[in-house]
Amino acid sequence: MPTQTQIGLMSHEELRSEHERQSAKYAQLKAEKLALDLTRGKPAPEQLDLSAGLLSLPGDGDYRDGAGTDCRNYGGLTGLPELRAIFGELLGIPAANLLAGNNASLEIMHDAIVFSLLHGNPDSPRPWSQEPVVKFLCPAPGYDRHFAITESFGIEMIAIPMRDDGPDMAKVAELVAADPQIKGMWVVPTYSNPTGAVYSEDVARTLASMPAAAPDFRIFWDNAYAVHPLVAECAPALDILGMAAEAGNPNRPLVFASTSKITFAGAGVSFFGSSDANLAWYQQHLGKKSIGPDKINQLRHLRFFRDADGVRAHMDKHREILAPKFALVLQILEDRLGASKVASWTEPKGGYFISLDVVDGTAKRVIGLAKDAGIALTAAGSAFPYKQDPEDRNIRLAPSFPSTDELAKAMDGVATCVLLAAAEKALT
Ligand code: PLP
Repeated sequence: MPTQTQIGLMSHEELRSEHERQSAKYAQLKAEKLALDLTRGKPAPEQLDLSAGLLSLPGDGDYRDGAGTDCRNYGGLTGLPELRAIFGELLGIPAANLLAGNNASLEIMHDAIVFSLLHGNPDSPRPWSQEPVVKFLCPAPGYDRHFAITESFGIEMIAIPMRDDGPDMAKVAELVAADPQIKGMWVVPTYSNPTGAVYSEDVARTLASMPAAAPDFRIFWDNAYAVHPLVAECAPALDILGMAAEAGNPNRPLVFASTSKITFAGAGVSFFGSSDANLAWYQQHLGKKSIGPDKINQLRHLRFFRDADGVRAHMDKHREILAPKFALVLQILEDRLGASKVASWTEPKGGYFISLDVVDGTAKRVIGLAKDAGIALTAAGSAFPYKQDPEDRNIRLAPSFPSTDELAKAMDGVATCVLLAAAEKALT
């Protein structure tokens, strides 16, 4: 098979025939008139079905939690204690330091930044908006919606290269120690979006303890995929709050999580964990915009899971649906692109994404070719601050939503686009 030769080793003649072959394959692909979507990490309908029981909970006449609170009424800004205890156990956070909120952790992250801009946080000399410039460190590739929040407020984003065990920590430590305008950093510590990287304990400890020039520096520790392994053993939730307290920086981490990819992505429960001082600060401002969260939804989740093992057992069922889809994508990548050395990709042990790196300078072209063939991929550069992928090589693949058949078709098509773009590039 010609594609089993490394494209980089081909003669000009061989390249021309490779280009012709891939062009013909691409023409066939277009003729199929596909309409497939690999853009967003949404749970598939059969994953949502796993939580169908929630639709009839808490049930007629059931509206009080274990403390006797009438969940139908106003109040209870901190959320239901029993649900906080369950997720506290899963996230490694004492229930007293974990709040349960509404349906989106992204909203809490947004609020934490808005409150910091308007009021400053408990350690701020002045509100962030009164600073000449506010900067955030952005491990990249990373989560596009994180970067969209900071960009929308004019916060300057500094890209930090991601490794398998977290970001380039030498660079992080150097910048944070030197620049008092660096007020924050985005972190997805477990099965990171999109590479699947898991932060090591060493990286976490350095983040918690490194000197920071800004007294009000904050780590936005978004543990969105804390209980989302694709293998039997889940990566442990690192005790970032404990590490930071031990290092004398108790207010540094802000921890976020939600059940968006556990139960219903649009109707789950979010969580916010932090120090006593940060929680008091957050609630002081939150209390102005809300009298309390949707406690009926929290009660429904409590009844559905019962305890932390209930969540773990539920995540096993997600894994049974997701793991074969990820295995399929990896198999197709290996079969179609393995030998030609035109791409590399991550093999995540959890989370929702695979990060694909194609030949430098061809990611936009691959995504354009796929689009014209009816395969929607996440926009080029999405995983980078300002949507600028400096090498134009990264593509985020989201295997969860399509059916297995659709996924196989889409990935085979993507592989053709990668090979065609690589051959085009090599010929120029
Ligand atoms: N954080 C990360 C890293 C994500 O990948 C996502 C969704 O893809 C979210 C947060 C969204 O969380 P929520 O639905 O709780 O707002």
